[in-house]
Amino acid sequence: MEEDKKSLIDQTQTFHPSHSFASQANLKSFDEYQRLYDESINSPDTFWGRAANELHWFEPWRSVLDQSDKPNFKWFSGAKTNICYNCVDRNLETRENKLALIFEGEPGDTRVFTYRQLFDETCKFANTLFSLGIRKGDRVAIYLPLIPEAVISMLACARIGAIHSVIFGGFAADSIRGRILDSTCKLVITSDGGYRRGKNLHMKTIIDDAVTGCSSVEKILVIRRDNTSSQNVNMQEGRDVWYHEASADKLTTHESEHMDAEDMLFLLYTSGTTGTPKGIVHTTAGYMVGTYLSTKYIFDIHDSDIYWCTADVGWITGHSYVVYGPLLNGATILIYEGAPDYPNKARYWDLIEKYRVSIMYTAPTAIRTFMKWGDEFPNSKNLTSLRLLGSVGEPINPAAWLWYHKVIGGERCPIVDTWWQTETGSIMISPIPGVTITKPGSATLPFFGVDPAVLTDEGNETDYGTLAIRKPWPAMLRGIYQNPGRYVTGYWSNWGGAYYYTSDGAIKDQNGYYWIIGRLDDIVNVAGHRISTAELEGATITHPWVAESAFIGADHDIKGQALFGFVILKAGFQGSDQVRAEINEIIGRKLGRFEIPERLVFVNDLPKTRSGKIMRRLLRNIAERKELGNTSTLADPAVIDHIAEEFRKLD
Ligand code: ATP
Ligand code: MG
Repeated sequence: MEEDKKSLIDQTQTFHPSHSFASQANLKSFDEYQRLYDESINSPDTFWGRAANELHWFEPWRSVLDQSDKPNFKWFSGAKTNICYNCVDRNLETRENKLALIFEGEPGDTRVFTYRQLFDETCKFANTLFSLGIRKGDRVAIYLPLIPEAVISMLACARIGAIHSVIFGGFAADSIRGRILDSTCKLVITSDGGYRRGKNLHMKTIIDDAVTGCSSVEKILVIRRDNTSSQNVNMQEGRDVWYHEASADKLTTHESEHMDAEDMLFLLYTSGTTGTPKGIVHTTAGYMVGTYLSTKYIFDIHDSDIYWCTADVGWITGHSYVVYGPLLNGATILIYEGAPDYPNKARYWDLIEKYRVSIMYTAPTAIRTFMKWGDEFPNSKNLTSLRLLGSVGEPINPAAWLWYHKVIGGERCPIVDTWWQTETGSIMISPIPGVTITKPGSATLPFFGVDPAVLTDEGNETDYGTLAIRKPWPAMLRGIYQNPGRYVTGYWSNWGGAYYYTSDGAIKDQNGYYWIIGRLDDIVNVAGHRISTAELEGATITHPWVAESAFIGADHDIKGQALFGFVILKAGFQGSDQVRAEINEIIGRKLGRFEIPERLVFVNDLPKTRSGKIMRRLLRNIAERKELGNTSTLADPAVIDHIAEEFRKLD
């Protein structure tokens, strides 16, 4: 490993788990983790068979893992089960009157569902789908705000064996159309509206536009979210159906379909950070067991918890850790429809205080935004109910980790920095709370059954290279929809097919801890030095005025490759040559002179995907003065013009 990186990681502060957390936890000691981990790697059939036995099966499996047709791995072959049955029916035995779902709308309206009520609503929804002609194997697109019906419709699809394709409620018509066409959906579930920053999103109108030219779509099922806008919704005779009308006479029982272990459960498009989104296929049994067990141990679910994952169900995090994993564990989940700054910047903290949230799972981009807004907002609320915090989506820079730990967690809550992907289905690398010693910025150690390696291009193990996974794991993707070839070439062709290729770069330190450095195409080679843009961003944010930054490597006439930085300052601060010099001084001191960027641009915003990840590819195009290419997953396309303008001012 390059010396400077090594010394940086060696100097990292470590945080030791508190004994009191571990003593009440589902996994109580590091020795227990080590013993179970070893078993999961050496005897996966025993390990995963035991985990699966904690759930309900209509028929048992013949084999836990079938590797006869690599890389088309099969888990729990021969078994029959249903994930909706396991999320809902199974919990009726002991948790019938426990809250399953708490919803708060942006305007402040609330709805709550016990497990019994969730059962009733899910069955009613399933019967409605059935009456619209939806059967096992049909694809159903779900385009909804984050309201209870988003969760219920996913569960109802799973109950009848229909394949859901959830499309994030912030996408515009073109992005939706592309996904509906790719998966030939028969039904689209949407709503008349939804709230975001006080405005009503006219989702049905967007869907009307999106489905033009989608010949597979037979029906559109419309949930009434907003009574006032309902009057103006255009309902096409014969195609569009109000949910409240279609469901009115439906029964609140519906027998779960007995699904084959490898029957498709859902398909979901990736975030599109690096290019065109891929339709990732997940199947029933392995996904169920993987999300169940990872939630149980990584989020340490207890019956007394109020669990809040802030992700939208339009992302994999929403699938695995808003809906399936927590409900499989009988948890009480909170969902919130709106923006974190509506009606003011304390809204999230208000929700935590109001519902006594004990577990919070969010993204680094959100954490950095909260830091930028200032401590007074979280400090104005009582956050003492929190006992565990999680992070996902991007590498979390140590400054954000420390802020989250101190200001939100009161220095009392373990932080689980969870590395995984849409493709992996469940968390792959993460601390076990109360058990693993944490280091800010490191996702630490693999979860059960995950056998990672850091490899050179030639396939030799190294301490800084490409993150790869040696063994199949239950919740792994089973393919890319309608594109079996791309599954093999994209994920299982490097290193002779012996490993799953993650496309992320990682460091393995002397304690065996994994540090996800970022996407491989964000690792820049300047004058023979391998520079991770995440590290530059981590150093830059230690300047007290800096709110967020993004660095990229771009082709340069003279140097071959050069570094460019884009920096957002906190509210009330102005960029100047003086600030630029100070930031460069920090980079030079912390990382080395050769990491000082060629150009450092002050900007108001960064180009982000709808899931909040920085699209560095677009910044690279600006620096190289190229066409921008596909920007369909960008949250706000106007941002790019402003950045290009600020960039050119420095010519
Ligand atoms: P696309 O594959 O279409 O470019 P995407 O990779 O952003 O989009 P996701 O599957 O939502 O789509 O994101 C997975 C990626 O997010 C990981 O490969 C990694 O780069 C990043 N990531 C997620 N969690 C973490 C984490 N805890 N630490 C570091 N990186 C993370
Ligand atoms: Mg990806």
